Order: sequence, then C-alpha cells, then structure tokens
Amino acid sequence: MSGPTLFERIIAREIPSDIVYEDADFIAIKDISPKAPIHLLVIPKKVTARVDEIAEPLEMGQLWLTAVKVARQHAQDYRLLVNCGQGGGQVVFHTHIHVLAGWESGPDSD
Ligand code: IMP
Repeated sequence: MSGPTLFERIIAREIPSDIVYEDADFIAIKDISPKAPIHLLVIPKKVTARVDEIAEPLEMGQLWLTAVKVARQHAQDYRLLVNCGQGGGQVVFHTHIHVLAGWESGPDSD
C-alpha cells in the first residue's frame, strides 16, 4: 500500500503550499513549478488517481465547474488541462486540473 498522495498531504497541511481556493470538496493551489504566468491546480479532496476514474457525472461536473470558477477568479481567458496517466504526462496520481493563464497574447506567445 502506498501512503497518502502528495496532494492529500497538502490538503492536510503536512506540506506547505500556496492555497488560492478551498471549499468542502476541493482545493486549489499555485503550481510549484509554473508553466505559465498563472498556473494553478484544482484538486478534489476525494482521491482518485486519474480523472477517468471519476464515474459520477455530478462529481465530474463539480470538478470542472470548480476549475472554471477558480480560473475566472484569476483570469478572463485561460486554458484548462488534464494529464491522464504516465503516457499523458501525469506525474502526481491524484486527479487535478491545471489552470494556465496570464500570457500576453495567448499560450503560444511567450
Ligand atoms: P501532472 O504532470 O499533471 O501530474 O502535474 C503535477 C503538477 O504538480 C506539476 O505541474 C508540478 O509542478 C506540480 N507540483 C508538484 N509538487 C508540487 C507541490 O508540492 N506544490 C504544488 N505543485 C506541485
């Protein structure tokens, strides 16, 4: 058995992070290694390893609605991105949505 995920430890405040949003079901933090001027991670507190393990439409909807809400709190235009599985670039196996924003003229401009 593996222990708690990195993001569970962040949610439990065992590992420090820059929290920008939190409610009963989700947390959003600044990415420690930003790939855009604004780079946030929206993370469900209920653990699944990858987004395609979320079977409940309501849970999936709440995740994306929360990502949109957090994104709109920081930017008018933004990119939402999910890496799913090692081959999809996923490194932390606790479902999360990347919120990327803040470029001068779009994501390919910088
Ligand atoms: P993934 O590749 O979709 O799994 O993305 C994982 C993200 O977590 C990467 O963008 C990392 O920079 C980010 N990350 C890793 N450790 C931490 C941390 O301790 N705090 C905040 N973000 C982290």
